[in-house]
Amino acid sequence: MADARFTLLNRTNEIGANSYLLEIGEIRIVLDAGMHPKKRGPDSIPRFEDLPPDSVDAIIVTHSHLDHVGTLPLLMRDQPSARVFMTPGTAALAEALLHNSVNVMKSQRLELGIEEYPLFTHRGLDELFPRVEPRDYEKPFDLDRNGSVRATFYDAGHILGSAGVLIEGGEKRIFYSGDVHFDDHALIRGSRFPELKDLDTLIVETTRGDSPRKDGYRREEEEERFIGDIRACLARGGSALVPVFAIGKTQEVLAMIHECKGAGRLPDVPVYIGGLSTKMTIIYDKFSESTRRMTPDFKILRDMNPITGNRRGKRKIPNDPGCIYALSSGMMTAKTTSNGFARGFIHHSKNSLLFVGYADPDSPGGKIRASQTGDMILLDEELPEVALNCEVQVYDFSGHAPRDQLLEFMLKTGTKQTILVHGDPAASQWFADQLQDAVIPPSGTAIRM
Ligand SMILES: [Zn+2]
Ligand SMILES: [Zn+2]
Repeated sequence: MADARFTLLNRTNEIGANSYLLEIGEIRIVLDAGMHPKKRGPDSIPRFEDLPPDSVDAIIVTHSHLDHVGTLPLLMRDQPSARVFMTPGTAALAEALLHNSVNVMKSQRLELGIEEYPLFTHRGLDELFPRVEPRDYEKPFDLDRNGSVRATFYDAGHILGSAGVLIEGGEKRIFYSGDVHFDDHALIRGSRFPELKDLDTLIVETTRGDSPRKDGYRREEEEERFIGDIRACLARGGSALVPVFAIGKTQEVLAMIHECKGAGRLPDVPVYIGGLSTKMTIIYDKFSESTRRMTPDFKILRDMNPITGNRRGKRKIPNDPGCIYALSSGMMTAKTTSNGFARGFIHHSKNSLLFVGYADPDSPGGKIRASQTGDMILLDEELPEVALNCEVQVYDFSGHAPRDQLLEFMLKTGTKQTILVHGDPAASQWFADQLQDAVIPPSGTAIRM
């Protein structure tokens, strides 16, 4: 049996720049190449300096969120012989996201004076991306030229293209969950993982280990609360702002609104989307028939005709009453569309600000969620504070599996070893306390599999 080892390449044990090295005999595989969304410069990059140049055989990317794919161009540049695998949906979204990253880094270079930005360029991406080899779900493929290790993607139900991956070789069977959601969403279906018996190692996300779902949670009831709040806001002459992540949340929220308009549960008011979301929605629509959807014949842009706009310039999104605004970013980070728009929005008491996803406590969105009506909010450090007078609500539409479901999944695999990743320390620790033979890996030190 080949010797197998796992190394955490994240600099710290948290949701950040996710990346893991697997060594199975002679074969070296890197799973994911994320960028830390909160850190800047070298701190935002995994420990790629630990990987000797041109020493990696294969790179596998599970999905197109920044914390999984944001530093892929750097890793590909360091590892010119590595083959690069992801699903077709991930490839399309990742390419658009990384080009957007170049623009974000260019403006951060100017605004924050970070000399080394951008870390890669549009032209660099155009040169690297032809190396990506898209692979469909449930079709095994070889990771090395000798075919000694193979991999298979399975739908992880998290966002378009998201995958868990089964890796088999050297008499080892290893499964990495990626970010996973077992239940159906409004638009995309939940995961379809294989029967995972006799696993040697399970590498699994632990995002929600520290945040149990409230008792008696039912997705339909949460949706009714969300839609009911939008209805009430529109009825009193206000507008609803829903800050959303460009990939995943935008399209799920739009699908929910469309369904409720069709069923007469929402009036047919204008819906605005903006920024990066528009590009990502076009890609979602492109894959509507080739991926597992609740309603495969539904195309968001064709069937909903949302109004698209930008943060500034000629197509700046107008602040009108009686509208729904689904704008990125989800955490209302400074210089994004949702942040700029909120400046003329949150001081109106008739309006509603509705959060449907995670917001870091230090982000503007996180600060608003911790505030009271009437508090002054610093949306952007370079601009004056704004009074928070609108209604604020938070809903649980997480794209990550709740901890009890995830624990049940872990136990069902009958795995000999569980490696807990993608969670803050308290979240991973909760799972470690429930399981035997579970490890929270240290950064940069190999552990045996
Ligand atoms: Zn994700
Ligand atoms: Zn993630």
